[in-house]
Amino acid sequence: MRLILLGPPGSGKGTQANLLQRKFRVPKISTGDILRAAVGDQTELGEKAKVFMDQGQLVPDEIVVGLIKERIDEADCVDGFILDGFPRTIVQAEKLDETLSALGQELGTVVDLEVDRQELLVRLVGRSTCKNCGTMYHRTARPPENPGACNECGGELYQRPDDNEATIVKRLAVYEKETAPLKEFYRKQKKLKSLNGSGSVEEIFSRVCEMVS
Ligand code: ADP
Ligand code: ZN
Repeated sequence: MRLILLGPPGSGKGTQANLLQRKFRVPKISTGDILRAAVGDQTELGEKAKVFMDQGQLVPDEIVVGLIKERIDEADCVDGFILDGFPRTIVQAEKLDETLSALGQELGTVVDLEVDRQELLVRLVGRSTCKNCGTMYHRTARPPENPGACNECGGELYQRPDDNEATIVKRLAVYEKETAPLKEFYRKQKKLKSLNGSGSVEEIFSRVCEMVS
């Protein structure tokens, strides 16, 4: 399985990627998570990326492409991977194609999660994430059993600094301009499968599974 999850911020890529990696036992590669870890560790790369992330802008292609090339080349990716949040530009998609063909691998399905803008805003503004295992919650739609704590592991929940309204609006605009054109790119490659991304997490997960198996 070599899968891409495409879709705007808040469309549920991360949530579905977490479920998919458990079911299919292939690693999820999330550029957002990798970048946030670098920011947390205050590495040179992290310091650079933070400036873009805090403004809701994309981190430059050469940085994320470098990260992905290294990650895909690791041993646990030989049987496949799930990409969450990458590629986000045409250049990134072209570099991914090059990287995979150099490794003799081929991309499978590109799942496009469609959610309307109003719902995206509501989801992102109320979102929190477990620091420990990455499970995602929502203030009203999917609240944790104990406030501030993860149902799965008891870990502390936090709100991402870029999940504030101004930055969210910017991220959605960047998605439309830079990332939405990837749908056409993968439609031409006959890899694109669009699906309705609203509904319960479980419902969407079964729709995704139908498409990839
Ligand atoms: P979301 O999909 O909710 O916006 P992510 O965790 O995927 O969240 O990304 C958070 C931020 O990290 C983005 O706004 C961007 O600044 C940066 N980022 C993540 N992936 C990429 C990428 N492939 N290319 C450029 N920047 C990225
Ligand atoms: Zn947790």
